[in-house]
Amino acid sequence: MSNRFSPPADAQARRAVAPVICYPTETLPRPELKLYHRAREGATKVTEVIVPAREAAVFQVAAGQFFRISSIEGAQVGDLNLWNQNDIAERFYSGKTRALHGTHVTTGERLWSNLPHMRPMATIIADTLEWYGIDSYGGSVHDVIGTRCDPYTGNLLSTDHYHHCCHSNLTRALADHLGLSLPEAELHVHDVLNVFMCTGFTRDTGQYFMKASPVRPGDYLEFFAEIDLLGALSACPGGDCSSEHSSDEAACFPLLIEVFAPATAALAGWKAPARNAYDGSHGR
Ligand SMILES: [Zn+2]
Repeated sequence: MSNRFSPPADAQARRAVAPVICYPTETLPRPELKLYHRAREGATKVTEVIVPAREAAVFQVAAGQFFRISSIEGAQVGDLNLWNQNDIAERFYSGKTRALHGTHVTTGERLWSNLPHMRPMATIIADTLEWYGIDSYGGSVHDVIGTRCDPYTGNLLSTDHYHHCCHSNLTRALADHLGLSLPEAELHVHDVLNVFMCTGFTRDTGQYFMKASPVRPGDYLEFFAEIDLLGALSACPGGDCSSEHSSDEAACFPLLIEVFAPATAALAGWKAPARNAYDGSHGR
């Protein structure tokens, strides 16, 4: 018996069927961008955190505040994790964010939390790289298609024991912040938003690719916090991700996180989104 299969007579016709969008977003609640932008104008900086190269740092943002991730010193990619500050079981869900908004995110799109919470955790209000669009390779910026570089995959592919992958950086930073052991903290680390990273899938083999990030010092991605957030950001050992990650080979730079609080009453009428309204009965 052969395990090779030849195409049926109508193969071309089957391939020619037009796609439909899995999740049309017309009925998705829209962020109040005008309100957010107005509130941001009068906001003042409350704190800043520098993420050292090849390390991670945590930060906290209250619901209704803003946080900005900036490139400083050199082109650098960041791996972002977000949790509900009051319930670490609620965390960023890159897969469903991708299903709703596509492979890469920009202004007006949101980072959604996992089931059963499934609500916006943060909304992107500014992206200095929004001009990039989709390049001729199919690449774009700020992806939710990668996972995070990790030492396990590195070990499978090279037998190395490299300790500054984003997964490990995020694990150490979270463990220190919450007073957890590394094995405990590791379980809370999840698939990231790849801030400033330029990625796509090759058209011929469908493989995940990266290329030198177009980010330059002064570029930033800014968010409105929809709920109280605990964040962790890793300055990826891949640097601008033009060649390799999971080693100390690439030139790496720090990243800057700044948190801004709006003026009192600037968000009058705004309420943090409630948990998802599905009744949770699953048909029983
Ligand atoms: Zn990384």
